[in-house]
Order: sequence, then structure tokens, then C-alpha cells
Amino acid sequence: MSSKFGRIIAGLLTAIFLASCASYQPTSRGIASTDEEQLMELHFQALINGQAPEQEMIDYIDRLVNLLILTNKDIATFEKELDAKIAIRKKNSRAVIEEPLASKTYTKLLKKWKLKDRYTAEIAYFYLRCLEMRTDKSLSNAEHQRIKHIQQNTATYLANTQDLQRVELQELMTKLSEVFTAFVQAYKEDYAAKHGGVVPPVDDTDAASGFGQALFGSTTDLYAYIKTHNTTTYTPSTPADQKRQAEFISTIDQDLGLIEDPDRDVQSVQDLTCKDGKQICISTGEAGNIVGKVFPKGVWAFTFDDGPAKSTTNMLAALASYSDNVNPHAKATFFQLANAAPKFPDTVKAQFDAGYPLENHSFTHPDLAKSSVNRVHEINDSNVVLTKEYQKIQSDYVIQYFRCPYGSCYAPKVPAVRQMIADQKQVHVYWRIDSLDWKLLNGPKVSALVTKQMQLLDHGVILMHDIHPTTIDAVKLVLAWMKDQNNNKNAKYKMVTIPEAVDLVNGAH
Ligand SMILES: [Zn+2]
Repeated sequence: MSSKFGRIIAGLLTAIFLASCASYQPTSRGIASTDEEQLMELHFQALINGQAPEQEMIDYIDRLVNLLILTNKDIATFEKELDAKIAIRKKNSRAVIEEPLASKTYTKLLKKWKLKDRYTAEIAYFYLRCLEMRTDKSLSNAEHQRIKHIQQNTATYLANTQDLQRVELQELMTKLSEVFTAFVQAYKEDYAAKHGGVVPPVDDTDAASGFGQALFGSTTDLYAYIKTHNTTTYTPSTPADQKRQAEFISTIDQDLGLIEDPDRDVQSVQDLTCKDGKQICISTGEAGNIVGKVFPKGVWAFTFDDGPAKSTTNMLAALASYSDNVNPHAKATFFQLANAAPKFPDTVKAQFDAGYPLENHSFTHPDLAKSSVNRVHEINDSNVVLTKEYQKIQSDYVIQYFRCPYGSCYAPKVPAVRQMIADQKQVHVYWRIDSLDWKLLNGPKVSALVTKQMQLLDHGVILMHDIHPTTIDAVKLVLAWMKDQNNNKNAKYKMVTIPEAVDLVNGAH
């Protein structure tokens, strides 16, 4: 097996698995280099050698769909909790209210996202292994036909799923498409190298393409569907399917039991690492982890992650047209990926021109809490690449802030990662309000979730993603709400960038 394929796996799969598995025996697959890959390979072998691999493949995808529908239910519960807290606050303005993100519902959501990543990675791994087997000349024709049957069966199933499943499977489909594209590219290069530059016959890979492409339709249709349908419940129509769903939910419960509880408790211990009485500074402790709890009253930092992307231009336009009685301009801070920024030089320039600080959100967006991730690449190399891009516009620009993907180094639970960020002379930025925009993909729903949390909290860091067109709709609605609060309801909401917020906090001391 070519080492190129190994690199595809390393680059594309981000499963979260138990770090060790005592009963594990090395498989024949030489490229399974990490524990989690080895475990996925074991699962794949069990599936492929089982009684009905084509049905197991479909069951796994359905289990993922059911998990995601459960998360929609949790989001609805989270919003109801916010409503209840707002009602308490209205009755008694001095009532002590639990931080929204300290809610058990939010913690449950975080665990479900982790399980979602694990399922997605494993399905993508199975798909990649099927592609490899389909093109492995050492396997028999009968074996090729068997694998082809599994892939065709899955593709047919996906092509016939209902709209709700379709919505929930978008992320998986994007992942499968990436796997497929990278595989074909590597396969062609490998084949050409071995055959004096000859391009491989189309049939070698083409028969497998349906799987990855099956669900791709128009995103406009997707957003329209989400806008008009309730996605929090799903009841299958036949008793047999209802029984199947109950089994999925039971399996999901068991799998959730294997996911570690997220540790997001704000430390109450005073961090003494800052000099000169500052409250925020480069530190592996709480002082080096900006949430926004220490911001002055009414101060908000809007932050946007995962870009730049095509949609960033529209986000900049939405921000540029804003002003209210307190804020002459909108302010925002962007946490960007090193594998994206070089592709959008005009966007980077426009962000600079608008005065928005540009920071680091890693190279490829892995979970840095996982020890198998190349942290030097993700933290140090990304700084080099992003700094080079940013300095094309402003030659003395220095990146001062880093945000871990998934917020996975919130607490000092991952001291090695936090130390690496501190070594880069950067402060870690977390959030106090989670918009859940990437999951909701719906402007009004995201806006409602954000403004409800803003009513409860008064100040802090707000997390959003400029890569989703629906988040631009959400930002317009949040800003319209804020303008009404400031211009008509005597609120004093002030928009700041992260560096401005830090100056306010540290300077006020
Ligand atoms: Zn991110």
C-alpha cells in the first residue's frame, strides 16, 4: 500500500478514540499508525468479514443520523432553559443565574459532538478502506465484486433517504467527498508513477464514486428545508423502524458512556502569573484564557472562526453597514485557519482594511487535546504561515491570540497545548456565548440563541463562524436587536475587538 494513502488518513480522519486498547493485535494493514486508526481498522475488519456488511454500513450511518437528531432536541432544551432563566431574571433583576454554558444540557451537547466526530471519522475510514480494496490488484475479482456491492448498496440507500436525514448527513457527505477526491488523486499519481505516466483506467475508481457524491444537492434547498421543518424529533413510520431507532438510541447511550466528561469549569483559583496586577496575560492558567467574564459591563467581543471562506466577504459587508448610538462601527475578531487564509488574499486585505484583528485557529482544525495530533504543525507552523499572509498586508503584524478548535484546551486540562500557545506568546481565547451556528444553519434560530444569552450575561465573548452563509443572516438579526437595545431601550452594549477588550480589562486595573 502506498504511503500516500497513509497520508490521506492522517490528514482527513479525526476520530476520538480511547488512547489504548489492551486487547489490540496489530493487523496486516501496515499504514494504521496510531491507536485510533488501529482500532478503526479492527472495526472495519469485523464489519467486512461479518454476515451482512452492507446492512452494517447503513446501520452505522443511521446511528449517526439518530445521534444528530438527539442533539437538535438538546439545543431546543438549552433554549427553553434560557427562556426560564430570562423569566427568573425579569421577576428579580438580582437573581443569581447559572452561566448558560455551565448547564448540563450544554455539557451533554459537547459529549454528543465528540461522539458525532467519532462516528463520522469511522464511517469515512470504512469508506476509504472500501476504495482501497476496490483498487487493490492483489484481491480476487469476487472480492472486488463484494466490496462494489457494499458501496453500491450504501449509495442507493443514501440517494433515497428522507430530507431530515439528508440535512443531518451533510457533514459526513462533505467528509466522504474529501476522502474520495484525495483518494482518486493519490491513486492516479501512484498508478502513473508505476506505469510510466499512464493514467489509470476510469473503472478502477469510478464505480466507487457514487457513495461520496450521493447527497450533494443545493445548499439553498438545504437552508430552505431547515427553515421550515422541525428537526428536533423524528418518529419512523413502521413498527420495525421504530424498534430499529430504539436500538440505535440505546447504542448511542452506551457509546456516550465512553466519552469523557468535558472539563469546562472556570477555575476559581486566582491566577498569579500576570504581572503588574493585570487580569489577562500570556499564561497557561485562567488569566491566559479569555472568556469575557472579566470584561466591563455591556462589553461584547464578536468572534468568527474557521475562515476565511467565500462567505467571509458577505460577513464583512454585513458588519461594515452597521452603526448605532453607542458603536460608530461594528467590531469583530477573526480566528482563521492556516490552510484557508492563503487561498483568500483579497479577503484578508479587506479584513485588515476594516480594522479587524486576525488571529490563529490552527492549521487544519484538529482536536488539539488528542495526543496523536501534530501539535507543532497546528500551533507553530500555522503561526508562520498565517503571519506571512497577514504581513503581506501589514508588515509588522504580530498574531497575539489563539483559539483551539472545538475550544478543546479551555481548562488547564491540556497543559502541554496551553504551554505551546504561551510559548508562541499568545493568549488563548474561549467564549462565553456559543451560537451553535454551525449546527443550526438557520439565521433566526441562531440569532435567538445568541440574543437570549446576551440578555442573561451582559458581557463576554461570542462564538460564531463566518464560513456559513446562514451565520451572516444571524449576525444581521443580532445586530438589529442590539441597535434597538442601544437606540431605543437605553442599553449600552459596546462592541470591541479582543485586543481592545484586553486593554479595557488590564488598563482598568
Ligand atoms: Zn473552529
